Amino acid sequence: MTASLCEYKFRNGETCGKTFEEEVYETSPYCILHINFPDESDPKYNDIINKKNAKVQEKAQAGDFNFEGAKVFEINFLRLGRDDGVAFLPSSFQCLPLKNRDIDVLNFCDAHIKGNVTLMEATIQGNISFKKAKREGDVSFDDAEIQKDVWFKFATIQGDASFDLAKIYGKVSFVEAEIQGNTSLHGAKGDISFIGAKICGDALFDKAKVEGDASFDGAKIMGDNFFCRYAEINGALTFEGAAFKDPSVQEEACRKAKQTCEQAGDRDIADYHFYREMEAKRKRKKWYIRYPEAPLLQYGLWFGVYPFRLLLNFALIFAFFVCWFWVTNGVYTYSGLTDSMGFSFLNILIPGYGIFATTTPYHGVPVIVETAIGAFMWPAFIVTFARKYMR
Ligand SMILES: [Zn+2]
Repeated sequence: MTASLCEYKFRNGETCGKTFEEEVYETSPYCILHINFPDESDPKYNDIINKKNAKVQEKAQAGDFNFEGAKVFEINFLRLGRDDGVAFLPSSFQCLPLKNRDIDVLNFCDAHIKGNVTLMEATIQGNISFKKAKREGDVSFDDAEIQKDVWFKFATIQGDASFDLAKIYGKVSFVEAEIQGNTSLHGAKGDISFIGAKICGDALFDKAKVEGDASFDGAKIMGDNFFCRYAEINGALTFEGAAFKDPSVQEEACRKAKQTCEQAGDRDIADYHFYREMEAKRKRKKWYIRYPEAPLLQYGLWFGVYPFRLLLNFALIFAFFVCWFWVTNGVYTYSGLTDSMGFSFLNILIPGYGIFATTTPYHGVPVIVETAIGAFMWPAFIVTFARKYMR
C-alpha cells in the first residue's frame, strides 16, 4: 500500500504532494510540515516537534528552502551562505555542509513559525518578504505568523525586506544588517531594531503598528524615502547617531522620532531629534543660507538644545577676545592679561560697555563684534537653559 500524498495547496495551485511528493503524517491529510501544531498536552507533541525540526533540517540540507505554508517550531539558518557554506540548525546543533552558498529562494508564504526566525550572517540574493506578492527568486514570508522573534542580525539582503501583513509577536531585529532593496514593515508586537543597519532602498513604515520601541540608532539610511509619518509606535522611535543621505528623509524621520519620544516622556532624546530635524531643515536650504546658518544657528546656538555647549562657545569667544585685547593692548587705558579679561567679560555681558572705551576706530571694531555676539548669546543661553531645565 502506498501512503497518500500531502493535500496542502500552494499559492500556484499545486499541492505539496504533487510538487514534493511529501507523504502524509499518520492519519492527517497533510505532511509533517503542513500539519497543525498539536496541543502541548498531546502525548505526541514532542515527537511531532522533533519530526518537524528534522524535516526542516533535511530540506535545508538538500538546498530546498521552500517552506510555503509550513508550520514549524523554529527556523535558524546561522551563517548560511558564507564562504564556508555551513549551516547550523538548532534541533541537534549539527553542522550541515551546504552545496549552495547563497539562497535564491527562501519561501515562507503562509508559514506559521512558533519560535524564532534567525538568519544571522546569511546572504540572501532575493527578497525577504512577508507580502502577499510572490515572484521567482524572492525570499518570501507571505502572510506568515511568527510567534517569537525575527532575527536578521548581520544579514546581507540583496533584495527587499518586506514584512507587510506579517504577524510578528516578538521582536524584529536587523542589527548590523544590510538591506540593499526596500524595507517595509506593517506591524510587530515587540521592539523593532535596526541598530547599525544599512538600509539602501526606501523604508516604508507608514502602516506599521509597533507596540514596543523602534530603534535605528547608528543606522545608515541611504534611501530617498523614509515613510513613517503615520506609523503607530507605542514606544520610542530613535535615530541616535544615524546617518542620512537625504536631508528630507532625516527631517521626516527625526520629526516623527521627536514626537514619539515626547509622548514616551523622554525629553532629552526628543531634544536630540529636534536638533537633528533642524539640522536637516538647514541642509535643505539654499547654499547662501545653509552655509552661514551652520556656524551661527547650528554650531553657535546649537538650535537652542544644548545649554552647556552654548556656554562653552561663550567661553571660547570670551577667551578669544581676552587674547585679542591683550595682544593689541590698545583698548582704553587697560594693559596686561587680567585687565583684558575684566574688560572682555564686561564687554560681552553689558551691551555697549566697551564702545566708549576704545582709543581708535580700529580698536572699536572687535569691541563691537564682541558686544554683538554677547547681546545674542546671553539671551540664547538663558532661553536654552530655561527650556531644558525649567519647564
Ligand atoms: Zn505538505
